[in-house]
Amino acid sequence: MTARHDPNCIFCKIVAGQIPSRKVYEDDDLLAFHDIAPWAPQHVLVIPKEHIESLYDTTPEQHQALLGRMLALAPVLMKQLGVTGGFRVLVNNGPDGRQEVPHLHLHAMGGPRPWAKG
Ligand code: IMP
Repeated sequence: MTARHDPNCIFCKIVAGQIPSRKVYEDDDLLAFHDIAPWAPQHVLVIPKEHIESLYDTTPEQHQALLGRMLALAPVLMKQLGVTGGFRVLVNNGPDGRQEVPHLHLHAMGGPRPWAKG
């Protein structure tokens, strides 16, 4: 089990295997899985296993490496999923940042347009 786990958090439940997910990557610190309601032909979420609510709860001193690894994983996963023409990454933070699931996650979204018009 991870250092911090919130039993009421849907993504913590995915980490714990209590809710199924279509995993695309896992290591000691990170998990990546397909978004349940994709906005793009390929849409995966990269999350820390530890329950960190949003970027507001990170500091450069403590989380630089973790955040760097989350971002660095995006092109690896997009390529694995056959996305070669381009992709977007997005991290929503807090209510005004349109964050719906309060467990830090990086969206990686790609595939042939026109999904990416906005
Ligand atoms: P947010 O608006 O950045 O918080 O995005 C949350 C994302 O989590 C949305 O794109 C949802 O479709 C996705 N999501 C919510 N529940 C699940 C789930 O159980 N499995 C996979 N993705 C989920």
